[in-house]
Amino acid sequence: MHIPFDNSYAALPGAFYTRQKPTPTKSPKMLCFNEGLSKDLGISDASEAEALAVFSGNEIPPNAASLAQLYAGHQFGNYSPQLGDGRAILLGEVIDSNNLRRDIQLKGSGRTPYSRGGDGRAWLGPVLREYVVSEAMHALGIPTTRALAAASTGEDIMREQGLLPGAVLTRVASSHLRVGTFQVFAHRGQVEELKTLTDYAIARHYPDAQGPMGLLEAVCTRQAELIAAWMSVGFIHGVMNTDNCSIAGETIDYGPCAFMDDFHMGRVFSSIDQQGRYAFGNQPNIAIWNMAQFATALLQLAENKDAMLEEATAIIHAMPEQIEAAWLRRFAAKIGISHPKAEDTALAQDLLDLMQKSGADFTNSFRALSGDAARDQFTDRDAFDAWAVRHKARIAHEPTPTATMDAANPAVIPRNHRIEQMIAAAVAGDMAPFARLMTACATPYQLEDTALAKPPSPEEIVPATFCGT
Ligand code: AMP
Ligand code: MG
Repeated sequence: MHIPFDNSYAALPGAFYTRQKPTPTKSPKMLCFNEGLSKDLGISDASEAEALAVFSGNEIPPNAASLAQLYAGHQFGNYSPQLGDGRAILLGEVIDSNNLRRDIQLKGSGRTPYSRGGDGRAWLGPVLREYVVSEAMHALGIPTTRALAAASTGEDIMREQGLLPGAVLTRVASSHLRVGTFQVFAHRGQVEELKTLTDYAIARHYPDAQGPMGLLEAVCTRQAELIAAWMSVGFIHGVMNTDNCSIAGETIDYGPCAFMDDFHMGRVFSSIDQQGRYAFGNQPNIAIWNMAQFATALLQLAENKDAMLEEATAIIHAMPEQIEAAWLRRFAAKIGISHPKAEDTALAQDLLDLMQKSGADFTNSFRALSGDAARDQFTDRDAFDAWAVRHKARIAHEPTPTATMDAANPAVIPRNHRIEQMIAAAVAGDMAPFARLMTACATPYQLEDTALAKPPSPEEIVPATFCGT
């Protein structure tokens, strides 16, 4: 198999990573391989056997970098001075068919010097969850890492639930630079490395950005857009630690993430998020907090601290408005408005308030708005009817409200209960539910598999999701 590696991270000084080979696995089996993405990446002549050997970690392809990246990060608000790829290995980078540099990384491929107490492995459940959800996000048009392959390892690993089948995910990202990658050098006072990293990030992602503050501004803009995009599909990341916050602005590190069924601003799924720090409605605040940590790290580069602090403060203070503007653009489209005015915020927000009071299904309520069955989703029909009168008057001025709504409101998202059912089947050796979910989520704005658009029945509800570790 030929992977046209063009590695830039491995050319950085050794302080950024440790060379590390994946740990071979006993009897790997390919569960899923993303042919389309592999073509985009220029991967050619991949026989099934070769792809399996490489994407299970059993064989290192020629010219691979094979390294574990160093980073740190704030986890639930507390600083951990050293994290790093504890179970991931960067195979290398390729320039894709759009001339973009992409990382190819194995996840679950064995221990590294950053594993701390962990086994370096992942189990099948979170691997398939990340596969489905990241590819669904991509199909929804939301910036995300991608899934190239999932292979089972043939080895069981120990988790809270007992022995579980191990698996390796191959993921593709614009890069794996995180806020935490900057934090590790800033906190250690390694200003030279911080400068090298800043120059590297600018060259790789934002070539027009001027210096550290230009970088900060560009990343804030991407993060603001990303959070609004998540919220527009009812997505809850679940672990927005600074080590899971991508400089490229992609959704990264899918752990206990979930799409909401019945709408609530305070919805939390992650079993470890006891305080609701990463609740649905708190995601804008956390993105801003994360960007403030990024700014703090970059301040170490200042020649004139006061001037840079002032600039950084202005950039961070602009974020709430940026997120609100992105939110309004997204939610206005969801109710059929293509050129929103400030007062449309209230119209969209009032609908969300009604949804919350009714426990209405987020995806289906929005999807139904372009038809005539939306009111069935609400318990207080009179309140909905009153809202619908205002809505009708507003969209009367819109050229194509129905098309605007249908393009902004997916019919299918990978619902939690479907993911759990898919994982249970995969553990039992049945990959058909995985394939079915992947097919439906590949064209989320078309409804073909109507059963997958249904909210869970009471006994199907999955109240909590668990970390992928
Ligand atoms: P996450 O919450 O998955 O983003 O992981 C947080 C940190 O824990 C990262 O440094 C991971 O590499 C590390 N980690 C998670 N699971 C494992 C594992 N099974 N073995 C070693 N390190 C892990
Ligand atoms: Mg992580």
